[in-house]
Amino acid sequence: MADSIFEQALVTLGEAAKYLEIDDEVIARLKSPRSAVEVSIPVRMDDGSQKIFRGYRVRHNVTRGPAKGGIRFHPNVCMDEVKALAFWMTIKCAVVGIPLGGGKGGVAVDPKCLSKMEIERLSRGYIQHVFDAIGPKKDIPAPDVYTNSMIMGWMMDEYSKIKREYSPAVITGKPISMGGSLGREDATARGGYYCIKELETLHQWIPSQKRVAVQGFGNAGQHIARLLYADGYNVVAVSDSAGGIYKQDGLHIPSIVQEKLKSKRVKAVYCTGSVCELEDAENITNEQLLELDVDILVPAALENVIRQDNAGRIQASVILELANGPVTTQADAILNQNGCMVIPDILANAGGVTVSYFEWAQNNSGFYWELSEVHRRLKDIMAKEFWHVMNIMKRHDVSMRIAAYMHGLSRLNDTIVSQGTRDYFVSKIV
Ligand code: NAD
Repeated sequence: MADSIFEQALVTLGEAAKYLEIDDEVIARLKSPRSAVEVSIPVRMDDGSQKIFRGYRVRHNVTRGPAKGGIRFHPNVCMDEVKALAFWMTIKCAVVGIPLGGGKGGVAVDPKCLSKMEIERLSRGYIQHVFDAIGPKKDIPAPDVYTNSMIMGWMMDEYSKIKREYSPAVITGKPISMGGSLGREDATARGGYYCIKELETLHQWIPSQKRVAVQGFGNAGQHIARLLYADGYNVVAVSDSAGGIYKQDGLHIPSIVQEKLKSKRVKAVYCTGSVCELEDAENITNEQLLELDVDILVPAALENVIRQDNAGRIQASVILELANGPVTTQADAILNQNGCMVIPDILANAGGVTVSYFEWAQNNSGFYWELSEVHRRLKDIMAKEFWHVMNIMKRHDVSMRIAAYMHGLSRLNDTIVSQGTRDYFVSKIV
């Protein structure tokens, strides 16, 4: 099995294609990102020295619309990871039927080691260096790991300055006061939450009897914990990069969220402190959290956390992949064998890009929606596509991941084939 995350992602694509009549040319197109740029960003540090950071932007596919995908600030960012993330965005946008393609970007940096002003200079420097690769009709970035609405605001401002035009539609996930959409902040988690609500209705779950563990307590993790807690789910464990906390009879999520966000009140770029210091609960590691005796496990941090070596010890019966790529291909097979239902990333976390699409549409039209409108439209899309995927899963007796890939791939196939493939061009019929 390939070590490359991008190669692994293509394996799943090939698996899904076996169940469909997909033109070979379509698969060939999806295997090759349309463009990939790598840049060196010099940043003046607070002590007067210069540091050079590696930045990336990949446009994977734009057949169904301009590319769309987040920007990650993390030490492990590399071209292979960005390509995989951009590929997943192409499939994801097709799964939820929005007119966008796939893109992604990032900078290899540990942002927690930078001051607020250094982060602002890096954010603006990133835009200066990828300026030609992005644009409201070309490639529209958004937040991802360790980037947030404030950073999106700086980036939009920088793009507008270079372009000499106010350009809010170049980036989504902005502060509301800078053209952001109501409902974007919790959209990733809310989309996954709507999937859980569909399962709740299907299986007539009693929320208080369902135990939940959430790995990662940033944008995606905090909001899913908050939404499920508010509905009575028993959230027994949460974690962040420093570790996790566990309480058998359930954590009080609102106070953990409030404490974690305290630093934001003085306009810090990031929350300070770990969840581990916030409630009187048993400390656990991130590895232990994944293996807890829970009903619903939500990986909401980074990729490849459930692998061949720990998949057999996962006890949850449902995994909601809010993170991108948290389960490796080998682990997926083990989970399926053990009867665990994995709601795949390309569906589970698609709420984020869906509301980003709403934000882009609002920026382009200059007409802004009420929060209730955002929620209603998001819920309609998530519920509809959830059932589409469920029906494919039942009809073909495949995993939910393969069903979601089949769904997205069919839509991509229709668009690519409509431009003509070999079959059309060599056909004798005129
Ligand atoms: P974030 O920066 O807001 O939060 C990341 C969280 O992960 C933090 O709590 C951090 O402490 C934790 N973390 C980092 N390294 C960890 C580790 N090794 N073990 C455990 N926890 C760790 O990021 P986010 O926006 O919430 O993104 C999380 C995941 O969701 C990513 O995979 C991202 O691609 C995916 N996602 C995000 C969005 C979005 O709109 N933000 C949309 C779709 C998918």
